[in-house]
Amino acid sequence: MAAAPETKTVHSPALTYFSMLSLLSLCPLFVILLWYTMVHADGSVVQTRNYLKQHGLQGFIDIWPRPTAIAWKIIFVYGAFEAALQLLLPGKRVEGPVSPTGNRPVYKANGMAAYFVTLVTYISLWWFEIFNPTVVYDHLGEIYSALIFGSLIFCVFLYIKGHVAPSSTDCGSSGNLIIDFYWGMELYPRIGKNFDIKVFTNCRFGMMSWAVLAVTYCIKQYELNGKVSDSMLVNTTLMLVYVTKFFWWEAGYWNTMDIAHDRAGFYICWGCLVWVPSVYTSPGMYLVNHPVNLGMQLALYILVVGILCIYINYDCDRQRQEFRRTNGKCKIWGKAPSKIEATYTTTSGETKTSLLLTSGWWGLARHFHYVPEILAAFFWTVPALFNHFLPYFYVVFLTILLFDRAKRDDDRCRSKYGKYWKLYCNKVPYKIIPGIY
Ligand code: NDP
Repeated sequence: MAAAPETKTVHSPALTYFSMLSLLSLCPLFVILLWYTMVHADGSVVQTRNYLKQHGLQGFIDIWPRPTAIAWKIIFVYGAFEAALQLLLPGKRVEGPVSPTGNRPVYKANGMAAYFVTLVTYISLWWFEIFNPTVVYDHLGEIYSALIFGSLIFCVFLYIKGHVAPSSTDCGSSGNLIIDFYWGMELYPRIGKNFDIKVFTNCRFGMMSWAVLAVTYCIKQYELNGKVSDSMLVNTTLMLVYVTKFFWWEAGYWNTMDIAHDRAGFYICWGCLVWVPSVYTSPGMYLVNHPVNLGMQLALYILVVGILCIYINYDCDRQRQEFRRTNGKCKIWGKAPSKIEATYTTTSGETKTSLLLTSGWWGLARHFHYVPEILAAFFWTVPALFNHFLPYFYVVFLTILLFDRAKRDDDRCRSKYGKYWKLYCNKVPYKIIPGIY
């Protein structure tokens, strides 16, 4: 088997192993403790800590929900529905970026249609009293538990598939089982010719579940209190605007690191199948039984600033992709873009050229787009006010993730573009926050 392209550990080997093993073992525990604290311990970390102190390991085993038949049923029906939409809904043919071995994957861009059909179906099922979304909330712990085990098995399947039946030449082994399992082996695994597994895990299961759960939390609060608080409305609206933006721009997402560089393994797939539905949605989960009344003025203020952040984040991505799509023949903030023509060599030895944008958002810092991403998350969390820390866990996690991602991306680009990346760093010296970092 060929050596995995781009299987590089950007941190020291010891730190890499430590972080991989601790993530593999701690993340599942964290997801369950997060759910327990939000739903059964008033969102209070102290209350959960006291419980665990008093009851020890047995206490933890007692709160771990067993995956029930209803949890599996919900997951399978939802997964099958999303897979069917992915396969059957019409969409434009879109080509992804050229892979390190020179392949160009082809996708069907039907994400927005799938998003629309999913939300309309889900809300209609509730409206016409065919299925009550509160059932999902009431079985959330069991669903997370089932997802934890099911996704682990799914990642083993990806590992075996990478070894015995890779879908393309963009596959390889690092020679180390843990690294292969954790970082993945295949870049574009598929079932058959058309069913792209990463589009399913990252977009249609993971990101879609974010919107579905945001609506679920809203409905649960309504059923509990007979009304939806303005804090919940701001939270749900901002999260839905964010996810709508994601599906609007889904074909653009297929050009990003997640799809074009990160291979299908535990890190990305387990993250999208378990971490997104639990941790990413957690501010809404908290608000279900903590309805805060913000008042019209403050609610509107948070909503507007949050939408502005989501828009700026979208515009950064749009600017980069428009610039690449038009080969630099576009206007950036009303002017011709300033750019660097960077050549690089593919793993097959071909010399290629990429354009690096050095004006607009991309002239402020090399990863400025992470600033509005983090701020948007802050603004959909802040309706929870500051009684508890846990709703802010996602913001803290996202900040660490994106700072690490900026480093991983910089390292990758430095080794890809060499002196041209150095030139870019001289022209745009800040990594994320202009003037500071
Ligand atoms: P992107 O992949 O979109 O951008 C980085 C890539 O763009 C680089 O690898 C490089 O790829 C290319 N590039 C770098 N600099 C330039 C430049 N100056 N001009 C042109 N191309 C350049 O980044 P991300 O995947 O990190 O982010 C995409 C979106 O996803 C963002 O909105 C981000 O906020 C969001 N995101 C959200 C996360 C979440 O958990 N909520 C997690 C991660 C991202 P190449 O090899 O083609 O040159």
